[in-house]
Amino acid sequence: AAEGWAEKDRRYVWHAMSRVNPGSGQASPTMMVEEGSGAWISDAEGNRYLDGMSGLWCVNVGYGREELAKAAYDQLVKLPYYPLTMSHRPAVELAEKLNEWLDDEYVIYYSNSGSEANEVAFKVARQFHDQNGEPGRHKFVSRYRAYHGNTMGSLAATGQAQRKFRYEPLAPGFLHVPPPDRYRCAYCSDRPACNLECAREIERTIQWELPETVAGVIMEPMITGGGILIPPDGYVEEVARICERTGALLIVDEVICGFGRTGKKFGHQHYGIKPDIVTMAKGITSAYLPLSATAVKRDLFERFMDAEEYAHFRHVNTFGGNPTACAVAIRNLQIMEDEDLPERAAAMGQKLMEGLSELRDHPNVGQLRGKGLLAGIELVEDKETKAPAAADKVAKVISGCKERGLIVGKNGDTVAGFNNVVTLAPPLVVTDEDLEFIVQTIRESVNGL
Ligand code: PMP
Repeated sequence: AAEGWAEKDRRYVWHAMSRVNPGSGQASPTMMVEEGSGAWISDAEGNRYLDGMSGLWCVNVGYGREELAKAAYDQLVKLPYYPLTMSHRPAVELAEKLNEWLDDEYVIYYSNSGSEANEVAFKVARQFHDQNGEPGRHKFVSRYRAYHGNTMGSLAATGQAQRKFRYEPLAPGFLHVPPPDRYRCAYCSDRPACNLECAREIERTIQWELPETVAGVIMEPMITGGGILIPPDGYVEEVARICERTGALLIVDEVICGFGRTGKKFGHQHYGIKPDIVTMAKGITSAYLPLSATAVKRDLFERFMDAEEYAHFRHVNTFGGNPTACAVAIRNLQIMEDEDLPERAAAMGQKLMEGLSELRDHPNVGQLRGKGLLAGIELVEDKETKAPAAADKVAKVISGCKERGLIVGKNGDTVAGFNNVVTLAPPLVVTDEDLEFIVQTIRESVNGL
């Protein structure tokens, strides 16, 4: 029966990246995923896999949470939908809860995807400057290797050329600088210490462009989709200071790093910064329903209130902040609090790193890096030259994992010539037993090279 579905799938369903990633070991179009429970999924043949990627970095509380299904059901029968031209309790309650999680005063604009949340951030930033008497500030700076979404603005902010090729020209005004990447740093990987030259490059770019033309900087606290790049000490704080000095707004993309993934509620909380704008999606509902949010510092929002009627924020969204998705998000955050999932992610992440650490000696492991339940293993041909592992080696590790029952991801930058980082982002509810299975499976698959 599964084969019949697989054939129909090939015929009727257009999958993202399906011609790029065949056999990558990522849930390929022919693997018909049917059920999930905890950190595990199963396919139509009844094979079980530990989902080491939480779907696409998003099922943070794990599969099969009946509380979330019930929250959705209860809200659907009460009031399935009303646009935020009016208001409703779930939207208000969730906004209040997000303020608590963000530990500062933010006003929440709801959308349905991470890409949209970033688009909102760009519009808010441009309009803010306009209303603040600096209408020329329209450019955004982001980092190569970062992913920020699939729409014309969020894709323009993305620093991965392979995703833009054939869709350009995208929204103008987006500039890129090298990412913080101690391993392959454009400035310091051949030096004994990092001097944060990569952060300074952001400031230089803003200065050379003229600060009066720059609206903001967008960054993830840790670059995820580009291959798990944990910034060097001081980097994030330095970028925040650069924004302050130059008047650029700091937009932090927490689409993956948020909601406990890195061992704190939000990734930027590791660095004690207070971004002007925070965007979030994925883990906000643990992916049980689509929802995203753009949190805007209250003082920025106030500027919009000064404006003439016609100049208020004019971005409208049909489904954003619908009561059902908000009700699921509220329950999801409650679960995360009740089960201390951010703290748990920190503790389990430590165990994961310890378990994997012996791989550092493997001749094909260039670097092992991570934070909380986010980890990357960069595979190389040669530890000295850091030549990226050939595609078939990376594929062998990934399919080795899959054959043993573990789904892992693959990230990097194909244009720059390295799509060689095996990634892990399991649900935050992984048990000790699950973790042992992940460690064992990765070790066996890497040692099989
Ligand atoms: N930002 C980041 C950091 C992401 O990883 C993603 C999605 N992978 C997005 C934005 C875009 O989110 P969506 O796919 O929900 O539009």
